[in-house]
Amino acid sequence: MTEEKSVSKEYKLDPDCELRFEIESKNEKTVVELKAGQAEVFGTELVKGKKYEFGSGAKIAVYSWQGCTLDLIGKPDVIYIAKETPMSIYLNVHAAMERMREAAEKSNDVKGPITMVVGPNDVGKSTLSRILLNYAVRIGRRPIFVDLDVGQGQIAIPGTMSALLVERPSNIVEGFSQQAPLVFHYGQKTPSANTTLYNLLVSRLAEVCSERLQGNKKARASGIIINTCGWINGEGYKLLTHAAQALEVDAILVLDQERLYNELVRDMPEFVKVVFLPKSGGVVSRSQQFRIESRDQKVREYFYGIKTPLYPHNIDIKWSDAKIYKIGAPVLPASCMPLGMKAEDNLTKLVAVTPGPNLLHHLLSVSFADSPEDDVVQTNVAGFVCVTKVDVDKQTITVLSPQPKLLPNSVLLLSDIQFMDSN
Ligand code: ATP
Repeated sequence: MTEEKSVSKEYKLDPDCELRFEIESKNEKTVVELKAGQAEVFGTELVKGKKYEFGSGAKIAVYSWQGCTLDLIGKPDVIYIAKETPMSIYLNVHAAMERMREAAEKSNDVKGPITMVVGPNDVGKSTLSRILLNYAVRIGRRPIFVDLDVGQGQIAIPGTMSALLVERPSNIVEGFSQQAPLVFHYGQKTPSANTTLYNLLVSRLAEVCSERLQGNKKARASGIIINTCGWINGEGYKLLTHAAQALEVDAILVLDQERLYNELVRDMPEFVKVVFLPKSGGVVSRSQQFRIESRDQKVREYFYGIKTPLYPHNIDIKWSDAKIYKIGAPVLPASCMPLGMKAEDNLTKLVAVTPGPNLLHHLLSVSFADSPEDDVVQTNVAGFVCVTKVDVDKQTITVLSPQPKLLPNSVLLLSDIQFMDSN
């Protein structure tokens, strides 16, 4: 933030209004402080007198139910106060979910609401999921958050599918706490890259979530909130209906697309409530370039931290010691498949990868599986490393890792996603 550009300005918000701002310029920062009244960012309350610092790429709305005074230092590229917001509609959705939770609490075999948020790209699906999760934890609930958005997910790094038991509101700047998420390796940034694997992992995630709900009464009454990808046509629509069935959803919130709403009303069983919701006028469309940068940013944050810096390690691994695999082999014609196997089975097959220069900059997931003989594809992952160097002469790879050591037999899963470590 350059000196001449940092401007401090007071904003007064009337009840049910929000201050929206976007920071596009590199190295620009904006600091927000609540001076009086009450305000929240995507469902998390601001603490009065605390300074919240947002960096480049931030697209934020500070909303107030009762009105407030804010102090803002910096010069965002876009800033305005909006009087029209869908927040009271979203609050009504939360209230309806809360009634279902109260009913679930009174009974042993009824689950809390399992709600899936769907819609095209850039309609605020992730934001609505975050708001509903925050409202739930703020009144003592412990919902599970499932993020099926493999490209722009909020839980782990891109190329994964994950679930998280949400125990406290998301951090205003850093999002949800990353403590003990359940993460599966998908290895691609779009579901279209391997829909068979995508569906398999959704079913596996659903199974684990269902077990967790069985074992934890509080989570069971709190339910699940599921965020999805913006691919809603053709095959993408089928992925959504598969996820709805696998996760046994009982409500689908459709943001901003009447066609999708009508298709779901037509195709979902009667007990699934399909609700149409308007998108917020504040939701910002993100360019392809911005999406690439935010994926990169997410990986950088994983290795180097956001506010509190992290210091990752460089580990050398001999090619002969590396157990690297990828999921999915090319699909062969059915006539070439061994007896009893379908052509799609190849798409979820574990295939050994010979180390070499082709690994450079690729992310590798570290599987919890003890050996490649286990069901690696459906086993969750412990973390990630990134190949920063390949030495052909010494036959080694160097990986960037949050941990100083990898277990000797670690099974590593190759991701299509790359990260250039510039630190
Ligand atoms: P995708 O399909 O790509 O995952 P999405 O539908 O989940 O997108 P979001 O990620 O929720 O959309 O929102 C897009 C961007 O708009 C985000 O950067 C978010 O911070 C911003 N945004 C959401 N709501 C508002 C708002 N009311 N005011 C300002 N910015 C907002």
